Amino acid sequence: MDGTFTPPAPSNEPVSGYAPGSAERRRIVDVLGQMESEVWELPNWIGGQQVTTSNAVDVTMPCDHQHVIGRAHFAGSDQVNAAIDNSLAVREEWAALPWSERAGVFLKAAALLAGPFRERMNASTMLGQGKTVHQAEIDASCELIDFFRFNVQYAAEIYGEQPPVSPPGLWNRLDHRGLEGFVFSITPFNFTSICANLPASAALMGNVSVWKPSRTQAHSAQVCMELFEAAGLPPGVINLVHGAGADVGDIALTHRDLAGVHFTGSTGTFQHIWKTVGANIADYRTYPRLVGETGGKDFIVAHPSADVPTLAVAIARGSFEYQGQKCSASSRVYVPRSLWPEVRDRVVAMVEEMKLGDVRDFSTFVAAVIDERAFDKHARYLDIAKETANVVVGGGCDKSTGWFVEPTVVEVSSPDHVMLKDELFGPIVTVYVYDDTEWEALLPIVDITSPYALTGAIFATDRRAIHQATLALRNAAGNFYINDKPTGAVVGQQPFGGGRASGTNDKAGSKLNLYRWVSAHTIKENFNPPTGWRYPYLG
Ligand code: NAD
Repeated sequence: MDGTFTPPAPSNEPVSGYAPGSAERRRIVDVLGQMESEVWELPNWIGGQQVTTSNAVDVTMPCDHQHVIGRAHFAGSDQVNAAIDNSLAVREEWAALPWSERAGVFLKAAALLAGPFRERMNASTMLGQGKTVHQAEIDASCELIDFFRFNVQYAAEIYGEQPPVSPPGLWNRLDHRGLEGFVFSITPFNFTSICANLPASAALMGNVSVWKPSRTQAHSAQVCMELFEAAGLPPGVINLVHGAGADVGDIALTHRDLAGVHFTGSTGTFQHIWKTVGANIADYRTYPRLVGETGGKDFIVAHPSADVPTLAVAIARGSFEYQGQKCSASSRVYVPRSLWPEVRDRVVAMVEEMKLGDVRDFSTFVAAVIDERAFDKHARYLDIAKETANVVVGGGCDKSTGWFVEPTVVEVSSPDHVMLKDELFGPIVTVYVYDDTEWEALLPIVDITSPYALTGAIFATDRRAIHQATLALRNAAGNFYINDKPTGAVVGQQPFGGGRASGTNDKAGSKLNLYRWVSAHTIKENFNPPTGWRYPYLG
C-alpha cells in the first residue's frame, strides 16, 4: 500500500460516571460479581502461548486479603530466557511491518477497551489493585485508551520528521528504526494504564518488549494481554513474564540484547537497575536506553492570598484519592498560619465524610492500600507521627480483613521533619504551618526538602506570588499546577514525569517518550555523484 496515512485525530476518552441506575453501573456490578467468584490462572505469555509453571503464587484482593482472585505463575530462568529468545526471533518481522499496520493494532486496542473490554479491565483493576470504580475508570480505561490513541498521533509526527534540506541532486531521509534488541518493561502496581503502556509504546515504535508486571497487578496484566491479542498484536511482540523482580531482572538486565529499559516504580529499584546496566556496560550489543519514572514527595504550597475552599478540596482529593498511592499524590503541604484554622477544619470535615471501605461498596472513597508491606510501612509512620507530631485527623489502621489505613492529616512543627521528606505512598499527608511573613524564605525550603521532583502545586490569587513560586520551584517538579491539585495528569494535555530522584523525565503520554524507543537511521542518496576526485582550488 502506498500513501502517507493520517491517523484518526485523537481526543480524550470521556469518563463514564457509573452513577446509580446507569447502564455501565449495572454492567460492572455483574462483571464484578462473576470475577470475584473466580480464581484465574495467570500464566506467562511467550510467543502467543500461555505458559504455566510449578511456582504459582496467590494474588489476593487488597480490600479482602484472604480472598484469592488469581495464581500468578512465576517464571523460572528457562521461561525468562524463552521469552527473550522469542522476542528477538519476531523482532525483524514486526519492525518491517509498515508503521500504519502497527498503529492499527493499538487503535484497535483502544476501540476494544472503549467497548467490550472496558468493564472487564475496570473490574479487574478494582479487585486486584483496590481502586474504586471511578479510579479504575480514569486509569484502566480512559488513560490507557488515551495512551493508545495519542501515541499513534505522536508516532505519525515522528515518522514525518525528516531533514529540512535536500539540495538539488540529493535526497536526505531519516528512518526512525526501533532499537536493536528487546525493551525490558518493568511496571508498578498502581496504574494499569502505565503498566500496559510501557511495553505498548515501545512496540508501536517497532520494538519488541519483554514485560514484567508487579505481582499485585498480575490480574489486570492478564486482561491487558488478552486485549493485545484480541487487537491482533502478533505473538511474541509483547511477551509477559511473572516473577520476583530480581529473578527476572538478573537475567534480562544482563542480556547482551537488552536495548532499553522502560521502568515505572520506586527510586530504589530504578537505581539498582541503572547500577546493574552500568556494571555490564561493556557487554551489550548497543547502549541500553534507560527510561524510569520513579518516586515522589509531591507538594502543595499555599500563599496567604490562596482561596481556602479550593485549597482544602485539593488537599483532600490530591492526598487521599486511591489511598495516596498515585505517584503524583500530594503528601506535603505548606499553609500560612493565617489560613490554617479554616483549611484544617474544612479538610477534617471532608475526611470525616470519606468512607473507608471495600471497592465493591460503591459508597467507598478510600479503600485498602496495596499489600502488607505497604500497610506495615504506613503503620510505622503513623507511630512516628503520634510520637513526634500532631495527628489532626485519622491515624488508625486495621489489617484484619483488608489493608486499611485511615486517611490521615499530620501537622509537624519543623520543616525538616522526616514526614515531609520520605515517600510514604499512602493516605497520609503532612502539613507544615509557616508564618505568613516567611513566604519568601519558605520557597527554597520546599525546593530542597525532599530529593524528589515529580509534581507540585501553588495556590494563590496574588499573581506575583504565583510567579515567584513558579520560578523558585521550577526544578522541584516535572508537573507543576497553579490553583489545582497535583494529581490527574491527562494524556495529550499534561505530559507526565519528573526529574531529580523522580526519574528521567521522559514524559509518558507525549512524543518525548516515544523518541526514546527509536534510533534514527540517516540515509543520504546522491542522484549525481561526482565523477572526478579533484576540487576546483587545485586548478
Ligand atoms: P517497585 O519498585 O517496588 O516495583 C516496580 C517493579 O519493579 C515491580 O514489577 C517489581 O517486581 C520490579 N522489580 C523490583 N526489583 C527488581 C529488579 N531487581 N529487577 C527488575 N525488576 C525489579 O514499585 P511499586 O511499589 O510497584 O510502585 C510504587 C512506586 O512507583 C512508587 O515509588 C511510585 O512513586 C512509583 N511510581 C512512579 C510513577 C511516575 O510516573 N513517576 C508512576 C507510578 C508509580
